[in-house]
Amino acid sequence: MTTCFDIGGTFIRHGSLAKDGLVAEEGRLKTPTDDWAAFVEAVRSRSGALGEPVSISLAGAFDARSGIADVANIPCLHQRHVQDELEQALERPVAIINDANAFALAEAVSGTGRGKDVVFGIILGSGVGGGLVVAGNLVTGFGGMAGEWGHGPIVDPTAGGTIEGIEHYACGCGQTGCVDATGSARGMERIHTSLHGETRSSREITQAWNGNDTKASRTIDAYSTLVSRALSVLVNTFGPDVIPVSGGLSNDEALLDLIDRKTRALVLANYSDRLIVKGAFAENGGLQGAGIHARRMFGETA
Ligand SMILES: [Zn+2]
Repeated sequence: MTTCFDIGGTFIRHGSLAKDGLVAEEGRLKTPTDDWAAFVEAVRSRSGALGEPVSISLAGAFDARSGIADVANIPCLHQRHVQDELEQALERPVAIINDANAFALAEAVSGTGRGKDVVFGIILGSGVGGGLVVAGNLVTGFGGMAGEWGHGPIVDPTAGGTIEGIEHYACGCGQTGCVDATGSARGMERIHTSLHGETRSSREITQAWNGNDTKASRTIDAYSTLVSRALSVLVNTFGPDVIPVSGGLSNDEALLDLIDRKTRALVLANYSDRLIVKGAFAENGGLQGAGIHARRMFGETA
């Protein structure tokens, strides 16, 4: 039996791939972030019998082709060939998929994108990520980074525009002005600080906005405009049937509704129905996507 894992910087969540193809969480343990041997033992302790495969959804930018991890919040994995090295250490087949790709695949196969041709799953949370699935197949692209719409210095205050006071924030990828630097929860907080000179958490900002607070409304207006503008280019490029959302900010239904309306107003195609929706697997897309990936990699029937 295949054991599926959803590994982030805080927890390793795990569950078994059931006959119906679903993966229910069976438990979690703290992620050993700085010790490779401890990390291997943590995964081994929750894996099946020797030789039985594991499938892992891994948080962070991850080269789907070379297998090299770029996982800032789990330093012991950084720049390793994680799949090869785990296969050797665990003595069993290992499949690995990026968490955003896992979420997009889960949505396309079993969630909001079921039966639809083009599904672009996005994460709006501590970071901004995404995965593109076309005709049921994940598009990894040249370099294995396809879907990573959070990076690339598109927010440029020198290019004009109507939003004043938003700085060219530094991004974790080394550039400035990325969607990740403005569209993540931290980005929302940076925008709020730039506009109002005060520090608020993204949760405080969205709560205040839902209560019609003036400052928070200005922040959310700028935030949603910047995210929608970036999404509009992707919508015109890929023509998604649906954009399911995961990540902490996907829990705010009013925020998703606002981003959806702004984005649909900016694109060429006439989307009469909702385009941007909370994902059916917003909470457990990693485990579910790891299960689908395992069935494809290991040929397990469901
Ligand atoms: Zn970046």
